[in-house]
Amino acid sequence: MAFSYWESNAWLEDVDLMVVGAGIVGLSAALHARSLHPAWRIVVVDTDPFGGGGSSRNAGFSCFGSATELQHDRESLGDEAALELVRKRWQGLQRLRSTFGDAALGHRVCGSVELFPTAGSESLPSAQALADLNRWIQPVTGAADTFAKIRARTLPHLGSDLGESAILSRLEGLLDTGKMNRAFKSLAHTQSIDILTGIRVESVDTRKEACQLQISTLSRKATSVDVPRILVATNALGAQLIPQLDVQPAINHVLVTERMNGFDFPHAVHIDAGYVYARPIEDRMLIGGGRHWALDERATLNKLQGLLHELWPVTKETAVAYHWSGQLGVGEMRSPLVQRFAPNAVAAVRLGGMGVAIGMEVGKLAVEELMTN
Ligand SMILES: Cc1cc2nc3c(=O)[nH]c(=O)nc-3n(C[C@H](O)[C@H](O)[C@H](O)COP(=O)(O)OP(=O)(O)OC[C@H]3O[C@@H](n4cnc5c(N)ncnc54)[C@H](O)[C@@H]3O)c2cc1C
Repeated sequence: MAFSYWESNAWLEDVDLMVVGAGIVGLSAALHARSLHPAWRIVVVDTDPFGGGGSSRNAGFSCFGSATELQHDRESLGDEAALELVRKRWQGLQRLRSTFGDAALGHRVCGSVELFPTAGSESLPSAQALADLNRWIQPVTGAADTFAKIRARTLPHLGSDLGESAILSRLEGLLDTGKMNRAFKSLAHTQSIDILTGIRVESVDTRKEACQLQISTLSRKATSVDVPRILVATNALGAQLIPQLDVQPAINHVLVTERMNGFDFPHAVHIDAGYVYARPIEDRMLIGGGRHWALDERATLNKLQGLLHELWPVTKETAVAYHWSGQLGVGEMRSPLVQRFAPNAVAAVRLGGMGVAIGMEVGKLAVEELMTN
């Protein structure tokens, strides 16, 4: 079946900006473009009705990095570039909260703890290393004590196979990922941004003045659409459309338990420099990650569940109620990639594991890059 005249004419013609990908970055970019160009026709397309990428499948951490993760950022990027990256995460989070408000996001600044289980990959930073980290990050957070050592045993429900200390990061928080996605889509609708789901962009041709996209749906044959400018925000799958982008998918698995009567853990949890994460969702516990173990799916799930039972022994009594996976966009560099790949085409991908924090900032930067043409 082909696209009808009406479908093409009403939705796909005379578009000023087409955004590919309706995740945090694509929708933030569309919203930022709208603030600059009130009369533009802005269309966001996505293959998936919920957004198939990380934006609807993440763990809901509103984080800028655990102590050991930031140490790794500093080692790999250098102090200055790593601080710039944290600043973008911090600013992205402030932008997210001020755009939607904490209630609409189900957001609370509950703090996070970094735990150091005996079999974990990281060891507790020394007091001197922690003081240095606090000095380094102070220009971004404004706090002298962003990270503080606490006694792990003061935390409720935890098992015994932990070191003496944990690190509390009191400025981090948690949000409700489902509410966040709804908030983005509702705002986009009020701003007359069309979100067309079920549309797959098969290819992008930027050799002519207009960008030419081949698009299809489950029931319609591919057709070509000409647009004056595009923004590709397909994160992990960016290189499928634009092969020169340094980004690739990395699978993350997530488990959520059944409800546990009386269970109440107060913080988000980082383990192994952020490669493993856990959080409460009301009286359930979520655990996810583990890609650094380089195990297959079954073995990763077993290890995540084993860790969950070891850290929170009460979870041994309960079953797993939800299990899903999602794709992170990663690459050589630990920072997001905003790259112009044609005069009127920009890609914003490689959000890594903290896209909730940095996503709005990246969407804005991508539009600024597109507008400098
Ligand atoms: C399991 C998991 C847990 C995570 N937990 C956290 C967390 O707690 N905190 C945090 O900050 N970050 C977390 N992240 C990372 C964060 O979710 C991502 O970095 C962020 O959502 C990326 O947003 P995005 O808009 O760039 O891409 P995505 O949300 O991945 O959106 C890209 C969209 O492009 C669409 N698309 C792809 N190809 C095409 C095509 N050819 N045509 C049309 N559409 C296409 C996809 O369907 C998708 O909806 C997590 C990620 C995962 C996978």
